[in-house]
Amino acid sequence: MAKEPIIGIDLGTTNSVVATVIDGKPVVLEEDGEGILPSVVAIDSNNKLITGTMARNQLAAFPDRTMASVKRHMGTMESIMLGDQSFTPPEISAMILRRLRDRASRALGQPVSRAVITVPAFFDENQRQATREAGELAGLKVERIINEPTAAALVYHAGSVDRKHILVYDFGGGTFDVSVVRMEDGVVEVLSSKGDTKLGGDDLDMALMNHVAEDFEKQHQIDLRENVSTKFRLLLACEKAKQSLSTEHTVTIAEEFIAEKDGTPLNLNMQVTREDFESLIVDMIDRTIECLDRAIADSGVTSHQIDDLVLVGGSTRVPLVQRRLRQEFYREPSRAVDPDLAVALGAATQAAMLNGENVGPVLVDVTSHTLGIEAVDGSMFGSRLVFTPIIHRNSPLPAQYEESFSTMSADQEKAEIHVLQGEHEEIDRNRSIGKFVLDLSVGTGDRSEIMVLFRLTLDGTLKVTATQTATGRSKELSVQNALSQFQDEQRDLAESRLGAMFEASDEILDEADLPPRQQWTQVPSESSVSTELLSKYPEAANMLEKMEGLKAELTEEDAHELRVLKQQLIKAMLSEDETEMKIACKELDDVLFYVQ
Ligand code: AMP
Repeated sequence: MAKEPIIGIDLGTTNSVVATVIDGKPVVLEEDGEGILPSVVAIDSNNKLITGTMARNQLAAFPDRTMASVKRHMGTMESIMLGDQSFTPPEISAMILRRLRDRASRALGQPVSRAVITVPAFFDENQRQATREAGELAGLKVERIINEPTAAALVYHAGSVDRKHILVYDFGGGTFDVSVVRMEDGVVEVLSSKGDTKLGGDDLDMALMNHVAEDFEKQHQIDLRENVSTKFRLLLACEKAKQSLSTEHTVTIAEEFIAEKDGTPLNLNMQVTREDFESLIVDMIDRTIECLDRAIADSGVTSHQIDDLVLVGGSTRVPLVQRRLRQEFYREPSRAVDPDLAVALGAATQAAMLNGENVGPVLVDVTSHTLGIEAVDGSMFGSRLVFTPIIHRNSPLPAQYEESFSTMSADQEKAEIHVLQGEHEEIDRNRSIGKFVLDLSVGTGDRSEIMVLFRLTLDGTLKVTATQTATGRSKELSVQNALSQFQDEQRDLAESRLGAMFEASDEILDEADLPPRQQWTQVPSESSVSTELLSKYPEAANMLEKMEGLKAELTEEDAHELRVLKQQLIKAMLSEDETEMKIACKELDDVLFYVQ
């Protein structure tokens, strides 16, 4: 008879997941097509226990008989009321674990009674004991309690023998933590762990909600946050918008009849761009990076010794998070496995190992190369052509990402979109995979914004769509077999080897010496300016701060001019061009003096 499986459980603050290893591969166990179970329990109107999505749906309406985020209370003696009954935190957790155990038994067609459960690395003995107790109350024999970062590291590196240092960056719904994990000869050890138990995706939703509510209040003198159910509705809409902004550049938050004024219903309809959203959350993301620096410092290894960076938690899908991590590490994070499922899959991997089964790392379809376009980077004066990534390496398939660009000159009639694949900033060290020209409608005297959307399907078809935002004019390029070209590693190696030789040679013409031939540029965002650059150029930093604090009501024209000058300054900072920075600062100062 086959051995009874041991299941792996990620008992999360917001969501929980159960997984097991089948035929050497960890898989998530689903119920009605759902792998994720919201970590919410409640008593319904008939006094019956409900868990998961049903319980979460009644959170706003019946907060007194619903409990979410019980994980925050584990290890305390608090009593939690569900209606008129009182429960301990392990009892509430046991209700979630029981549902997961039943889900597993049903999915596997046999009773399940043994489990590995994960906890955050920062959990103390009390919290771990409470988790163990919860498992037992749910009728599970808890074979082991393991750290979440250990589980996440196992997903990618199970079975690796060489010593490896893995940084696990876990940004979920309600908490953030980052750990440095060492693996050697099958022994996994958390060297250091830092975090903020009060920082998560919920805070990103809240920041967006405040922004939307303040804007609405300016227009209608009504604060949507005053009414609890309106606030909840707005928060849900903002979470949805936030998630869309991970792949789209602009979203519309639209809610009908959200409020009433003098007997007239009011609708909410607001456009938010990714830049708007990023400016609202950049401080929070910076806080996570500070934690990361401290975790590395405490681990005793240097950032160069980190072999892999693993992303866990739904909030790691936010592009700003990935961008900041790339800036810190100059390399692609591993995020092939769905970040919501990685911990459970790792727990299942550990469970199978305990059961004496052979398991390998989880493999999923990912892009093995970066895809992007050619665009101008740098200041208006010293611009140079670079490869600008849109779909990064290691992105799970299917992938869809959009970026915003602007033409270099006003009333430019055409924009050439040159699609490339590779990992180098220099254009010619990447492989060209297609080109097309978008005719632009001109006459406004402005530079055009162009949205470039990349869609890569599982069968390897890449569709690139460029759209002029103002007119909706668009054109598409479809490249078949874009994935099969990725297999050609050898040519890549040769290319980069030759590239290095060319770079070292005096005889080879340096591309940077050529005048720019492309006519458009990526709009840089303020968040791409590092703290290091800010402290190196205090005058420019001061200017950015001044603009941040700008209280004046601006005309559209002034706002546009300030935006252009600000971008010019940011570009100059990124290319460390001091002359250009001085010019931009002076011009900004003049405009600010005039508008304030
Ligand atoms: P977790 O606790 O790991 O389940 O993460 C849940 C958090 O991830 C919630 O705040 C979600 O809103 C957030 N999240 C899920 N998908 C996305 C996405 N595509 N972009 C941004 N945040 C996301």
